[in-house]
Amino acid sequence: MSFAISNELRARLERGGPILALTGAGVSAESGLATFRGPGGMWEGRDPMELATPQAFAADPETVWRFYDWRRKQAAEAAPNPAHVAFAALEQGRDSFRLVTQNVDGLHERAGNRDVLRLHGSLWRLRCLGDCEEHDNLELDLGPLPPRCACGALLRPAVVWFGEPLDPAVLHRAEQFAEEADLVIVAGTSALVYPAAALPEIARLAGAYVVEVNPETTPLSERADVHIAGSAGAVLPRLVEVAGIA
Ligand SMILES: [Zn+2]
Repeated sequence: MSFAISNELRARLERGGPILALTGAGVSAESGLATFRGPGGMWEGRDPMELATPQAFAADPETVWRFYDWRRKQAAEAAPNPAHVAFAALEQGRDSFRLVTQNVDGLHERAGNRDVLRLHGSLWRLRCLGDCEEHDNLELDLGPLPPRCACGALLRPAVVWFGEPLDPAVLHRAEQFAEEADLVIVAGTSALVYPAAALPEIARLAGAYVVEVNPETTPLSERADVHIAGSAGAVLPRLVEVAGIA
């Protein structure tokens, strides 16, 4: 695939300023993970939007957990793709880099990113409905579903469900970094949903150059400084090269 890199993008990649990356479902889709968007985005004939809610969990925790158990297994079988690897290289190769993701699958972490701001939480963290601390859990066999905490209360996946607010601390850190960023790379998300949608705008108002990497045109395309029509897996390794990171 061929695509042009604008002079401004090249200059900002070369000069080593702070980079904010914002990633979404499209980046995971390139690793074969379902996005659950559009026609066919169903799980066992059900609309995931009706499963990923606190109400659904309260009514039928076993079914909601079967959905998340399946997603954990799909995520575990998937491998990070060249886009994930490129974002890890940017984090390791730049003094100032922040990855903000809407993805919950853990592929960025597996690729090597150490400090990921997870706007929507993680499939690999569990939260007790009692008073215990949220914790990591990488077990592929959770035992009988729904799993229970040692204290006896139900456990839920520590992901943000429809109707729930984002973690204000995570969002605050993302917004702070957006204000400092010199370059913003938005990949695999239309960044349509607020508050994530505000991040490129905050950054742009503060002087950042916003590049969108997406095979499709999205609502962000008009507001970004440049839209690169390509898959993240094809484009990101090239950006890493231009940034001079081996
Ligand atoms: Zn507990």
